[in-house]
Amino acid sequence: MLNIILFGPPGSGKGTQSEKLIQEYQLVHLSTGNILRDEVANQTTLGVEAKKIMDAGQLVSDEIVIGMIKSKLQDNPQAKGFIFDGFPRTVAQAEALDRLMSELNTSISMMLSLEVPEAELKTRLLKRGEIEGRSDDNETTIQNRITEYKNKTAPVAAYYQQQDKLTAIEGVGSIDDIYAKIQSSINSKL
Ligand code: AMP
Repeated sequence: MLNIILFGPPGSGKGTQSEKLIQEYQLVHLSTGNILRDEVANQTTLGVEAKKIMDAGQLVSDEIVIGMIKSKLQDNPQAKGFIFDGFPRTVAQAEALDRLMSELNTSISMMLSLEVPEAELKTRLLKRGEIEGRSDDNETTIQNRITEYKNKTAPVAAYYQQQDKLTAIEGVGSIDDIYAKIQSSINSKL
């Protein structure tokens, strides 16, 4: 199986690049942000609680997102592999993901980390807020999300670095140029 973690701060292009990757490599896309937004849209009990946390720019509890990923993995026993987008966001989530992968007799193949300067992230997210109307793409929430990323999520890269699975990708430039760098990293490991 090809199991890729697409990593990076909010606004680094994980969703955009994931769309291209799933087409080319026929992977199942698991985005915890998208799953949570579906819960919010359906006004489930989880969605109503999660919306408050998401609008504050904080992280939803590890237990909830790990449970969501576990059930999506179980829903896709025939998958050729997975692309994890926005997960894991804490070291505890990374440890849980390793355990879930080993229960499926597989493992994480690689983490690709999109690197984008903070000023560019803010510009992109504000623009996306105008276009898509996501309620967490406003100035205050963006700042909180970036702070959460630095404090809780950035250490996840070191976790995969220790396993020799981390590749940094410069995430500034055209979507196609960035995708070409991602492709060549993946193809060099296949
Ligand atoms: P995203 O679309 O990945 O930027 O996620 C939007 C929001 O959903 C985040 O700001 C968090 O509040 C929540 N979220 C998404 N994925 C996770 C995760 N793996 N752990 C905790 N919270 C998450």
